[in-house]
Amino acid sequence: METTRAWQVDRPGPIAEQPLRLVTRPRPEPAPGELLIRVLASGVCRTDLHVAEGDLPVHRAGVVPGHEVVGEVAALGGGVTGYATGDRVGVAWLRHTCGECVYCRRGAENLCTRSRYTGWDADGGYADYTVAPADYVYRLPGGYSDAELAPLLCAGIIGYRALRRVELPPGGRLGVYGFGASAHLAAQVALAEGAHVPVVTRPPAAQRPAHDLGATSAGGDRPPEPLDAAILFAPVGVLVPAALAALDRGGTLAVAGIHLTDIPSLNYQDHLFQERQLRSVTANTRADGRDFLAFCAAHRLSVTTTPYPLSSADQALADLAAGRVDGAAVLVP
Ligand SMILES: [Zn+2]
Ligand SMILES: [Zn+2]
Repeated sequence: METTRAWQVDRPGPIAEQPLRLVTRPRPEPAPGELLIRVLASGVCRTDLHVAEGDLPVHRAGVVPGHEVVGEVAALGGGVTGYATGDRVGVAWLRHTCGECVYCRRGAENLCTRSRYTGWDADGGYADYTVAPADYVYRLPGGYSDAELAPLLCAGIIGYRALRRVELPPGGRLGVYGFGASAHLAAQVALAEGAHVPVVTRPPAAQRPAHDLGATSAGGDRPPEPLDAAILFAPVGVLVPAALAALDRGGTLAVAGIHLTDIPSLNYQDHLFQERQLRSVTANTRADGRDFLAFCAAHRLSVTTTPYPLSSADQALADLAAGRVDGAAVLVP
C-alpha cells in the first residue's frame, strides 16, 4: 500500500515544544460521498496554530491540521457525481452541517450545532493526500497559482464574511486592524468596492504592503478619520475598545478570529453608545465561499504567499506565531 506523509498534532502545547509530528501512513480512502484529493498546496492559518497549541479543545486526537487545501481529485468515493479525476478543487474549514437544525434551515449553516471542521474534527491538508465530502469542496477560479488559491479558502472567505458582517455603506471608511493573510485580502475586496481603507498595524514591514495595495493610510495608532466600520483581524482583545472608540456614530466592529485574548472592560458611552455595534464572525456558509471565489474570478486579487516545503510545517507555524510571515504561509508538497 502506498504510504504518504502527514503532520499530526501529537500533544497540543506551545509551538516551541513541537506539538506536531511528521508521520507516514497509508493513503486515505474516500468514503461514499467523499473525494480523495492529492494536495498541491495547503495554507497555514492561525486557527491551525490554535489547534496545535491547544487554544481550541481537542476534537480528534492526532488530527492533521490544514483547512486551506488546493488539490487535484485523485479518486471518487461511491455516489459522487459532478467531479472527475484531475479536477482542481478547494477544501475549506466547514466540512459538514446537519441541514436540519434551526440555523441550517434559516441559511445560517455556519452556526449549525452539529457542524464539523477540516483540520479539527477530520484530517486536513498538512499531508500528501486528504479526503473531503464532495458537497463541501469548492470549484476554484482560474488565473491563480495553487499557492495563491490556498489562502483564499479560509483567510479570504472569512475576511469576506467579516466585510459583509460590518455592512459598510457605499464609499465608506473601513478600518482594518492587523494586516496578515486575511486582512490583505479583505482590504482588496473593500477597495475594489470603492471603500476607503485605513490600516492599523504596528510592524513597519506590514505597513508598506498595506500602502502598496492601496490602503488610505497605514500606521500603528488610531486611524486619522472616524470609521464607518472596522474589522479586527489581530487576535488581540485589548484592541476592541480602541477600535470601537474609533468608530463613527452607527459604526460596526467585527472580530474576524476564532479565538481572541480577553477584552478589557468597555465603557458604554465611549465604546457603544450612538449605536455602535460589536459583532463576531463564526466560520462561514458555503454561499460565502462561493460568493468570495466568484469575486476572485472577476477581480484578480494580489495574494502574497510565503512557500514552505511540507516537511517544514512546524517551522511555518512557528514563523506565524512569531509574526515572521509575509502574507500567507503555504505548504507545497
Ligand atoms: Zn444544522
Ligand atoms: Zn483558517
